[in-house]
Amino acid sequence: MSIHIDRNTCIGCGRCANICPGTLFCMTDGRASLRYPEECWGCVSCVKECPVHAISLYLGADIGGMGSRMTVRREDSLLHWTVARPDHTTETITVDTRDANKY
Ligand code: SF4
Ligand code: SF4
Repeated sequence: MSIHIDRNTCIGCGRCANICPGTLFCMTDGRASLRYPEECWGCVSCVKECPVHAISLYLGADIGGMGSRMTVRREDSLLHWTVARPDHTTETITVDTRDANKY
């Protein structure tokens, strides 16, 4: 599992590098890149943290991703998870973080 960084969108804030539990990011030319993509375990922390949605998570064949990529957008307590498929269709699932650990 790994992520994709759109370096044209990255603004070099460094938030992904600060939050990655594996310290996998480095900043080159003022933008983020992944030093060890094979060590990414898909925790999605960087995807949620990026303020400009420059990071997406590859969804592997093992979970039916087949080349899809997932991004997330925050809106107050809501997280909007969007899957973009290779056939250019998308699907968005919204989760209210206030419901976390509710049950
Ligand atoms: S998904 Fe998690 S482990 Fe992978 S690069 Fe992002 S923060 Fe690091
Ligand atoms: S969090 Fe996003 S904008 Fe900030 S450095 Fe990382 S990829 Fe670039």
